[in-house]
Amino acid sequence: MVFCLTCGAEVDEYDSAYYARAMLCIPCYIKKTSEASFAICSKCGLRVRQEESKQRRGRAYCGYCFSELERIDQLPECSLCARRIEAHQHSLRLSDGSIAHSSCAAKKWGRQIQVFCFYCGKETSHFKILPNGKATCPRCDKSASQEGGSKARHMPILVAVLRRIAGAERQQL
Ligand SMILES: [Zn+2]
Ligand SMILES: [Zn+2]
Ligand SMILES: [Zn+2]
Ligand SMILES: [Zn+2]
Repeated sequence: MVFCLTCGAEVDEYDSAYYARAMLCIPCYIKKTSEASFAICSKCGLRVRQEESKQRRGRAYCGYCFSELERIDQLPECSLCARRIEAHQHSLRLSDGSIAHSSCAAKKWGRQIQVFCFYCGKETSHFKILPNGKATCPRCDKSASQEGGSKARHMPILVAVLRRIAGAERQQL
């Protein structure tokens, strides 16, 4: 004789699905599966099938949120704002070896920050963050326009010509 593990009801010995139902009678099995078959994602609230949900630090997540959290875990942490640095965000390495958002390095957060100039490698706290997210020391700051006069003279002819063409096209538009 076999019995249901939950309610103790007798189950037909020839019921071949008894073990497949984790030794439950049919009503208990239906009740159990309908209760336990869904999990609520702790992040987005989505209802997901139990077997499709993922566990992380004792919480259930849908597959999407789970892989998103796993992905975020892999991202480096900014040493200035303590947030994660997303792949699309500019970042740079400070001279203490830690990594930070370029935008945080530009803000400095009231801290003395030293970086290596992207161009000459010199360690400096008087740096500027370029639009490409790189740090530059004042000497290598190609974007400085104060001495633009002398720069223009040294500009290779081809570049000067290309700029003129680009300028002319812009005027036509
Ligand atoms: Zn039962
Ligand atoms: Zn989710
Ligand atoms: Zn940051
Ligand atoms: Zn430099």
